[in-house]
Amino acid sequence: MELKRTIFHENLHNLGYRHGDGIEFPYTCEASCFPYKDKENDSQSESLLACKICNGDYPSEESIDYLNDFVEYSDLSYKRSQSY
Ligand SMILES: [Zn+2]
Repeated sequence: MELKRTIFHENLHNLGYRHGDGIEFPYTCEASCFPYKDKENDSQSESLLACKICNGDYPSEESIDYLNDFVEYSDLSYKRSQSY
């Protein structure tokens, strides 16, 4: 599962999606499509929020809805440094 997750994530980069440049698709779509069910700290809200962000239904990466969702996702997924 980890190999599939990594290849999926890296292929999003091959398609042009980057971290810190626009909506965060690589991590959220990875978590949406390959939830960490075995991860000790995984929660349903983390997965649901990852899928919501992966859907990308925001006017821009600067919209307050996206920023609130991404900060919450980052907190739930222990990627707090990304939310800065
Ligand atoms: Zn990446």
